[in-house]
Amino acid sequence: MTTLSGKTALVTGSTSGIGLGIALSLAKAGASLILNGFGDAATVIAEVEHLNKSSGGKVGHHPADVSDPAQIADMLAYAEREFGGVDILVNNAGIQHVSAVEDFPVERWDSIIAINLSSVFHSTRLSLPGMRAKGWGRIINIASVHGQVGSVGKAAYVAAKHGVIGLTKVVGLETATSNVTCNAICPGWVLTPLVQKQIDDRIATGTDPQQAQHDLLAEKQPSLEFVTPPQLGELVLFLCSEAGSQVRGAAWNIDGGWLAQ
Ligand code: NAD
Repeated sequence: MTTLSGKTALVTGSTSGIGLGIALSLAKAGASLILNGFGDAATVIAEVEHLNKSSGGKVGHHPADVSDPAQIADMLAYAEREFGGVDILVNNAGIQHVSAVEDFPVERWDSIIAINLSSVFHSTRLSLPGMRAKGWGRIINIASVHGQVGSVGKAAYVAAKHGVIGLTKVVGLETATSNVTCNAICPGWVLTPLVQKQIDDRIATGTDPQQAQHDLLAEKQPSLEFVTPPQLGELVLFLCSEAGSQVRGAAWNIDGGWLAQ
């Protein structure tokens, strides 16, 4: 099993869903954790503290709204001050809005680009110098299958996720001769609040809840099963391991077969 004892991981958007699952896996592997995201941080902090207690890992939370570059800079300064920097950066915070492009609210476009794409640039540029100085680092961007293919109604999300994969390739190349790697993970459907909202929209049109879930999967995900946050956590641990050290600039699908079609 990968041991990350002595390493510090920052996972953006880790108070819920995929980010929380990844934070729990990293904590189980012994990493210190800087959590980020909205909502009830206290419960999440306690859960993570319980997991990495035996390794002596520390746990903190920074409430940065990652749509604001100044708050991201403040979070990285906190990481430097309280944890001695970030060794593993997981850019996970993200939002969704579904609407046809001609009706797409301009302010929703702007916030999706800021949260899902620009925040990845800011946290990467601010943590990379510290990783280079320490001679080791992992940058893992939670993109999506929507970084590789489109779906109707998701103009901003698809544009942002394609951008994340492009940025990942460039950072993967710029760090290629170092012990810092940068990769993207592309999940298919994962049953989190972000996706539950899309199921609820179907239920609101009169579809039975189980049928709504089945229809959502059947349209795109051949396995007809959701990817889970612990499965994503395990993939993050692999990318942090020595065995994963030559995976560079990749966009790694974990999608029940979505992109094989
Ligand atoms: P979620 O809604 O469960 O969690 C999102 C997290 O991001 C929460 O902790 C929230 O507080 C945080 N967040 C939102 N806006 C923020 C902001 N401005 N600043 C800081 N934190 C903010 O969503 P999820 O499904 O777990 O999604 C996590 C990531 O995975 C996203 O980037 C999403 O695009 C991606 N993803 C999700 C799926 C899926 O099926 N759920 C599939 C592919 C990719």
